Amino acid sequence: MNNSLWQSVLGEIELSVSHANFKTWFRDTELLSYDNGTATIGVVNVFAKSQLEKRFDTQIREILKKNNPDIKDVNYKVKNTKKKITSRETTASLRDRANELISRAPVNAKTPTANTTLNPRYTFDNFVVGSCNDLAYTACQAAAANPGAKYNPLFIYGGVGLGKTHLIQAVGNAIIKRDPKMKVAYVSSETFMKEFLDSIRFKIAGFSDKYRNVDVLIVDDMQFIAGKEKTQEEFFHTFNALHQANKQIIISSDKPPRSIPTLTERLRSRFEWGMAIDIQMPDFETRCVIIETKASMSGVTLERQTVEYLAQNIKTNVRELEGALNQLLAYSEMRGTTPDAATAEGLLGNVRSTRPQHLTAKQIIDKTARHFQIDSKEMCSSKRDKYIATPRQIAMYLLRSELHMSFPRIAQELGRKDHTTAIHSVNKIEKAIKLDLTIREQVAEIREKLYA
Ligand code: ADP
Ligand code: MG
Repeated sequence: MNNSLWQSVLGEIELSVSHANFKTWFRDTELLSYDNGTATIGVVNVFAKSQLEKRFDTQIREILKKNNPDIKDVNYKVKNTKKKITSRETTASLRDRANELISRAPVNAKTPTANTTLNPRYTFDNFVVGSCNDLAYTACQAAAANPGAKYNPLFIYGGVGLGKTHLIQAVGNAIIKRDPKMKVAYVSSETFMKEFLDSIRFKIAGFSDKYRNVDVLIVDDMQFIAGKEKTQEEFFHTFNALHQANKQIIISSDKPPRSIPTLTERLRSRFEWGMAIDIQMPDFETRCVIIETKASMSGVTLERQTVEYLAQNIKTNVRELEGALNQLLAYSEMRGTTPDAATAEGLLGNVRSTRPQHLTAKQIIDKTARHFQIDSKEMCSSKRDKYIATPRQIAMYLLRSELHMSFPRIAQELGRKDHTTAIHSVNKIEKAIKLDLTIREQVAEIREKLYA
């Protein structure tokens, strides 16, 4: 009964908050109990708890009461409290993380040399889920829950700084957390190659065994193995040994297997045995949630205006978004001022001037039309032919995701009278992106052109 009450509450909440917020903060919540008019909502982690308390409490209370007038009070509890966290510890650990964030290398710094150990910072808990990455997220969670059982190999691909390393390491961290005896090896393909070549050059025994005796093998940035035939052959044998033993293999790369040049055919076909999923640049709303999450990890609550300023101006990748936020927080802390939009603007001035300052609705419409080789006037006409309808829906979707326009405005820009058409189109493309690789890639290509 608790559950059906909570399900209907969730149903209403889903309609009133953004997709990214819903996925990130409300997933896996449940109504644990309600006694004497107090409802206790179980959440997955401290981030979700603090976000629900800070941002969604009023809404949750209202909807709960509407569904069950007996409920007078609501509180939130982290489920699965194997390790009980007191609020003081929470603040302390958040602060540790914050310091870690701030002390991290500046934007665009070279990634540190890859190591074979997992970075505990990369967890599912602090990964923000939006439509750009929810398939990858779900597949990674499935691999973490049942290594080797379902998607093997699991191949995650996408541009730089979009969260591949974070996500694939989260799998390893989750597996080790559940069972510390599991042997999880994380290695970049470059390190794999270096170790392999060294073992030949210096006649070091045992390299083959090193990666063949693990329960989970995670190989990052597989694209660097392109053209390295000997290494590919060695990896081929490692892959087979693990796969035959039903050990989970997870691979990341900047491109799908079919597009990695000079990958031997047999390795390519192995990679295609399992599941290949892409990660894309988060849309505006997801970028906002990422900024809010990262700021709250540093113990800072930013004004909405500041969050939107950052999300609007940094559209390249999450790493840069994070870099800009860290810069803003560190700078404001140093100066003893509030990290507000004006400060952000000052700091980002240089970044911005190298990018288009204002993306307009017209640019989105024109570039979308051009991508499909149709006339933008035609796209804004009342024609219903499919070759025009889909591009039009994609343009509407982009007006929403990139410019955050209201539905009536979107309808107006495309010559429609009724704003429900815009709602319908945006929803349709949002769904299609998940199910249809062609649409996904088309949207990604147009988006790239918008910021080129
Ligand atoms: P990639 O391996 O694809 O180049 P990373 O995994 O290194 O990207 O991500 C870059 C940075 O952005 C990391 O600090 C990571 O934690 C952060 N990041 C990327 N995507 C997300 C997300 N969805 N939620 C939270 N942090 C993210
Ligand atoms: Mg990476």
